[in-house]
Amino acid sequence: MQRIDTKSSGTGETSMSSNHNHNESPALTAIQQAAAVLIEEYVNANPKSAEAFKDAKASGIAGGTNRASIFYNPFPLTFVNASEATAVTADGQQITDFLGNYTAGLFGFSPDPVKLAVIKAMENGHALGGAPNLTEARVAKQFTKRFPSMDMVRFSNTGTEANSYAIHTARAVTGKNKVMMYDGAYHGAWIHGGKAAGPLDTPYEKITVPYGDADLIARAIAKNAVDLAALIIEPVSISPMVYLKKASPPAYLQKLRETCDAAGCALIFDEVMTSRLAPGGAQALLGITPDLTTFGKYYGGGLPFGGFGGKRKWMERHDPAHPKSINSGGTFNQNAICLAAVEAVFENLWSEEQCTNHNAKAERFKRAINELAIKHDAPCRAYGTGSLLTIIWQKQVVTEEHYADNQTKHELNLVAKMCVFKCAELFWFYMLQRHNILAGSPKLNYLTLPTTLKDSDYDHFLKAMAKFFEAHKTELAMLSAETKAGLEKTPEEVELIAMSTTPYDENGQGSVVH
Ligand code: PLP
Repeated sequence: MQRIDTKSSGTGETSMSSNHNHNESPALTAIQQAAAVLIEEYVNANPKSAEAFKDAKASGIAGGTNRASIFYNPFPLTFVNASEATAVTADGQQITDFLGNYTAGLFGFSPDPVKLAVIKAMENGHALGGAPNLTEARVAKQFTKRFPSMDMVRFSNTGTEANSYAIHTARAVTGKNKVMMYDGAYHGAWIHGGKAAGPLDTPYEKITVPYGDADLIARAIAKNAVDLAALIIEPVSISPMVYLKKASPPAYLQKLRETCDAAGCALIFDEVMTSRLAPGGAQALLGITPDLTTFGKYYGGGLPFGGFGGKRKWMERHDPAHPKSINSGGTFNQNAICLAAVEAVFENLWSEEQCTNHNAKAERFKRAINELAIKHDAPCRAYGTGSLLTIIWQKQVVTEEHYADNQTKHELNLVAKMCVFKCAELFWFYMLQRHNILAGSPKLNYLTLPTTLKDSDYDHFLKAMAKFFEAHKTELAMLSAETKAGLEKTPEEVELIAMSTTPYDENGQGSVVH
């Protein structure tokens, strides 16, 4: 029997282990055999990356990595330098980056305006620690201008901190305790929903709901209203497990908006990733206003940065002069170097026009991938919104939207077969070994496209993909055949699906994490 461990271990990837009997799945066997050839080539081509990983382990770094999401088998590539959209590995391979550091690398590697701003800030007196600096207000104005939902903002160093601050703000303002989120959601290193939660998770009580049915979630909110401080969600996210990053329909979000108002709890949009989808974030794209918004990742242009903001009602308690002030500290929250980087991003790299154009170009790329897959009759489709794409190795539409009545329900139709997931690995090693392209990670072909990709890079990707469809025609045909009846599930597949979408008990029984 196959088993997929759906625990998110960081930035949107799914980790898998298998004690699968290969005879049960000829497609899986064929895909794994094809991948084994490429993986052997990878091992032979990357002795220095292998050595670097071995050294990292020997150095005392637990598991040889400080970030679980960038580890993959047999060992991760080590980058030694990079510029624009090209990274150079320890073994000298130059690769074109379609991963984009899981959204943090939106402007490519070390963008010049950021580099110059950081050097200037350093020359101007280090981090100007211990007192306010002039960059803070300028950066704050950029956020309040772009995001009408924010009267006030506060900065942090990471998205995890931003979400922690926002959740604690909601708990302080409402005087309530519980926090609701999607089952399997990832809102930071210690903020997971439901079964994704682990020993590091924050100790407040979480209620987790499955993604997709706004009526069900509304009932859950109403039922828990007495002690519910916040609902935190990404406005663009079809499933925390597969990372399709598909926009939730406005009517779905509107229903949640109204229910949060009625229940007196905060609606928090985690826009750490999704704010890149429109100049005013996904909230502007979808026309729904949250109470609190969090951001991070790419705004630092490669440097650590995060923050949160919202209407005065929610944020004013951060004023040290407020009678019920929340004492919210953070040594590096106004670090002048990181803020100089953010200012350079706003001024040079992420105007409203740059943002809109980039997302439009990415939509065209998504369409081109899908046209190519259809032309080759390949079990492959790209999903996503704007510059956040995921390639899924099945023909069936992964999401089913029930718009007819009230536009509030989505269903996830991921074919839960190991061969579907393993095809992502085959594709990743193929694109790297044969065409010097970083197509997400071997665990998931999640492409968060950097602005530094040129038209010729997109063309190169599409040509390489066409060659992949030809080179692995046999495996892909077997995959198509095996997933044809994909939605009629075996008991094992039902179990896998259940692991990704836990049925919700409206009393919170069995879905509450302490
Ligand atoms: N929220 C979302 C949606 C994320 O994807 C992430 C990181 O992947 C975070 C929050 C946490 O951000 P950080 O890694 O900067 O703490």
